[in-house]
Amino acid sequence: MLLKICHLYPDLLDLYGDRGNIIALERRCYWRGIDVEITRITLGEQLNFKDWDIVFMGGGSDREQSILFQDLHDRAENLAAAINDGLVMLNICGGLQMMGKYYQTADGSKIPGIEILDLWTVAGAKRLIGNVCIELGEAADTGEGEFKLPTLVGFENHSGQTFLGGLKPLGKVVKGFGNNGNDGMEGFVYKNVFGTYLHGPLLPKNPHFADMLLARAIERRWGTVGLAKLDDSLEIEAHQYIVNRLKQT
Ligand code: GLN
Repeated sequence: MLLKICHLYPDLLDLYGDRGNIIALERRCYWRGIDVEITRITLGEQLNFKDWDIVFMGGGSDREQSILFQDLHDRAENLAAAINDGLVMLNICGGLQMMGKYYQTADGSKIPGIEILDLWTVAGAKRLIGNVCIELGEAADTGEGEFKLPTLVGFENHSGQTFLGGLKPLGKVVKGFGNNGNDGMEGFVYKNVFGTYLHGPLLPKNPHFADMLLARAIERRWGTVGLAKLDDSLEIEAHQYIVNRLKQT
């Protein structure tokens, strides 16, 4: 079994250690004896999304988003087809914004999104910064068993306020701002595509979420094979500690 992971625009979209998410996926496979191939794709490089099991796009500043939007736009049709075929994808912050209709920056100009998903983003007057805890919605069920957790924790830093059209959120905000600081929603879920404002890195802090992505990718390619259980007791303890701390503040 060889799981193929594509890191999109690692040179442009890598705020706050987003790259750690790739390391977490790779390590969790390695510990289970699953081979992983990681390919980094940036501006102008050839890629067919149907060849990949997991695609990751991190966050970036407005500047980087405007540098890459045309390149991403040129790939939109190919990406949409793979998404419809069940591609597993994780989009963080700026990466989330690029999947939607547009991102309107503070000066009123619009960076076009690739319009695969029904969401749009408008920069607000204040940055939404801080630690976040969300309660996962059903669409992002992380499975059964001892290590199933109902929460995600992370860190957000964005001026963009995102609004979902017909999309389901990834979860409900327990602490922090989430998509826009108003409607209590955080991120989105569409088929096997997940978006969130949680940087962090997200996956080391939320190993149950990492495994949900891996399980979906493996199931899509090889059918249900199940994931061997790892000893996540330290990660879970750290996760619970921060959940409890955030709930108290
Ligand atoms: N440029 C976007 C914003 O500030 C995204 C930032 C990010 O990816 N952290 O809203």
